[in-house]
Amino acid sequence: MKPVVAFFHPDQLRFKPVYEWAFGERIDHPETTARAENIVAALDADALFSLQEPEPVTPLQLQSVHALPLLTLYHTAALMPEGEAFYPTVFPKLSQGRGDPTQLTHAGHFCFDAGTPLNRETASAAGWSAACALSAAEALTLGQADLVYALSRPPGHHATEDLFGGYCYYNNAALAAKSLRSRGLRVAIVDIDFHHGNGTQSIFYDDDQVLVVNLHGDPADCFPYFAGFATEVGRGAGQGFTMNLPLPRGTDGQEYLRVLRRHVLPALTHFAPDALVVSAGLDAYHLDPVGDFTLRTEDFHRVGAALGSLGLPTIAVQEGGYYTPDLGANATALLRGLREGLGR
Ligand SMILES: [Zn+2]
Repeated sequence: MKPVVAFFHPDQLRFKPVYEWAFGERIDHPETTARAENIVAALDADALFSLQEPEPVTPLQLQSVHALPLLTLYHTAALMPEGEAFYPTVFPKLSQGRGDPTQLTHAGHFCFDAGTPLNRETASAAGWSAACALSAAEALTLGQADLVYALSRPPGHHATEDLFGGYCYYNNAALAAKSLRSRGLRVAIVDIDFHHGNGTQSIFYDDDQVLVVNLHGDPADCFPYFAGFATEVGRGAGQGFTMNLPLPRGTDGQEYLRVLRRHVLPALTHFAPDALVVSAGLDAYHLDPVGDFTLRTEDFHRVGAALGSLGLPTIAVQEGGYYTPDLGANATALLRGLREGLGR
């Protein structure tokens, strides 16, 4: 089989969120460095994968998706003392995106939840996470590969143009898609994370050159609660280019694949993109402590094969997935499925 290029930088491991408050309880933060370490170990152990370090990201690249104040805020956080973290707890809804990003106490202007800490390593780790996705896009457009994996951690799909949240700081998948789009390519993004990718959806909501399809836990019942309903279909020129397929808690692999084949694949075929970006969350797994579907490792392989059968140059960008012991197996199952679907 053709090798799968994978991007990861060790500095992504320097960011270590310690805790979050979940439903009134202080819990260990699920977005751990062990997540990425488990996936790296699985990639290292498998000759199919060629692990490489990405090129550093530039502020201009980040600004293709994100507002400057958000970048400034992360650099303000980089001045914090070692070991300290800031969790916004006040979110001024009427002035979102319009606080003073040089004041850490204004962070709530640029955030939508209380579980996504800032510390001195946030800017660097999130920057390298974004760099993985951008280097993946570069490798794809240079024709170096038809399948590239960005081991982006921290994840990205909840981050909007000017807000962080949901453990996400830079929207890695959106950065990859914008990079492809800037070269004249039509791009489809399929988000298979358990949670709705509200950030990605909002970034391309008016865009008819990027189709955004989400399969996720019904937001009536699941994070992020405020986005991902089936009635959200895009706006203006982008109307009809956003598709949401909310599914009930407990959805299994068989039903998930039925929906994928019945609704997602025909929509992708109809849109006829030049490239595919998969927001590859693995928290639909049956043991995941954060997600509530019941997919098995072999289901991720089937999902990959189904998406790969479209025959599109593909970037898989890591999103969520919090059952650490099986993350490597699930990531490689998905990627092997994509590889086999695309052709060896
Ligand atoms: Zn998720």
